[in-house]
Amino acid sequence: MTSSSAGAATADVLTDAGWPRPIIGGWPIPWVSHPSNLSYQDADRMQAVLDGPLCQVCGQPHEACCRVFLCVNAENEGTDRSVVLSEQIVLAMDNGVMHERCVRLAIARCPVLREIQAKNALIVLSAVVDDVQRGEIDGRPQLAVQGSAAIIEDII
Ligand SMILES: [Zn+2]
Repeated sequence: MTSSSAGAATADVLTDAGWPRPIIGGWPIPWVSHPSNLSYQDADRMQAVLDGPLCQVCGQPHEACCRVFLCVNAENEGTDRSVVLSEQIVLAMDNGVMHERCVRLAIARCPVLREIQAKNALIVLSAVVDDVQRGEIDGRPQLAVQGSAAIIEDII
């Protein structure tokens, strides 16, 4: 495959923020991921996602009061869809809070998300960005959403 028109993406350099996402080896490259190993997430960029919040897929900020999208692995949460909503606090996988088109791209192309989806354990939530809060779990920073979360059934 060839690189997209988004720039001179190579496997050695982190990609620029924005759309379209660069494609390397047939895979769209998330802003947080190292192009040579998509499972490796750059620590500085993950911190920026936490501090922003920024979208982990495109690296662009979320506007105030907009709705954002996040994925929950029900297996990791040890729960199911009804419990996720009744708890009213859910944890975003990889601290990823995404734009709608970015979460659609992630679900369509990310092998990890597709594997979770195949197990019927992928839960996609939408929430007002202002309800996304930074906290800590076991000493590690973690984004959580409280209050406005709703399961999106038709996005996948
Ligand atoms: Zn995005």
